Amino acid sequence: MNVFKFTLFFLTLCATKSWGWGFFAHRQINRFAVFTLPPAMSKLYKYHIQFITENAVNPDKRRYVVKGEASKHYIDIDHYKDSALWKMPRYWKEAVEVYSEDTLMQHGILPWHIYKMKHALTEAFREKDIYRILKLSADIGHYIADANVPLHTTENYNGQLTGQEGIHGLWETRLPELFSDNYDFWVGKAEYVENPQLRIWEAITNAHMEVDTVLWVEKKLSNNFPPAKKFSFERKGSSLKKVYSIAYARAYHTMLKGQVERQIRASIKMVGDFWFTCWLDAGQPNLDELIGLPLEEDRLKETFPKNKKLKVRTHED
Ligand SMILES: [Zn+2]
Repeated sequence: MNVFKFTLFFLTLCATKSWGWGFFAHRQINRFAVFTLPPAMSKLYKYHIQFITENAVNPDKRRYVVKGEASKHYIDIDHYKDSALWKMPRYWKEAVEVYSEDTLMQHGILPWHIYKMKHALTEAFREKDIYRILKLSADIGHYIADANVPLHTTENYNGQLTGQEGIHGLWETRLPELFSDNYDFWVGKAEYVENPQLRIWEAITNAHMEVDTVLWVEKKLSNNFPPAKKFSFERKGSSLKKVYSIAYARAYHTMLKGQVERQIRASIKMVGDFWFTCWLDAGQPNLDELIGLPLEEDRLKETFPKNKKLKVRTHED
């Protein structure tokens, strides 16, 4: 193959980036959250476990075709300077008053969006609307998982401010894909969340506290690792892709001391807790009645126009 062709397909490949936990981890998180639910809920969720799993990635697909979607996946908490974690308004209205909607949209609205979704899912349960229950359950699972990713809470989301471009995908996609076989995804039973806003901010705070470790550890590793062995090429279908080498990824994973697994477990637990809380707040509707209803494909399926491409911030470019 000539150099031009090689460069072309290499570039094409690099353009297909994931955002948020890689697709693999998002699916796992939604899937395992189903097993935290009490029997009154789990029968329906298990019946639709494939839908809940597959559609965990819809919000990431949506951000290229729906205006305003991208902001729902992150919050640049450090944009708001010192003690922002403690002083940021927990409620959307208050936040808009202090910072204006434009600023918030620019730097991400993830925590407030999860809270909005929480209301929507509760309402769907109240109305026993099976379509909305399924779609919103899959969606909220995605956003909650994003809130547990440290690099979704910082302006330096891809290490671009510290010369570590590519770290986003390394941490949230490459590591889980390579090493999650050994993770323990059983996180116990779903529990009621007394104050969802505060619970969301607790997750954001915990994730943000991990940002320094994510970056510092990789910097240290990079300074001590033979540069020629840092990357390798992997065949995907008919193309080659430049990736962090397995040796490099393994060394990073070891140095992080279980951090990725802890954040995935925190995501699973929180997704289960929120589904459960929505259902309880809706008055514990009988979900067994919804099992086996004939469902219209069209109303369940979300379509993503292929040729529409919004210019949005990506986490790995
Ligand atoms: Zn996302």
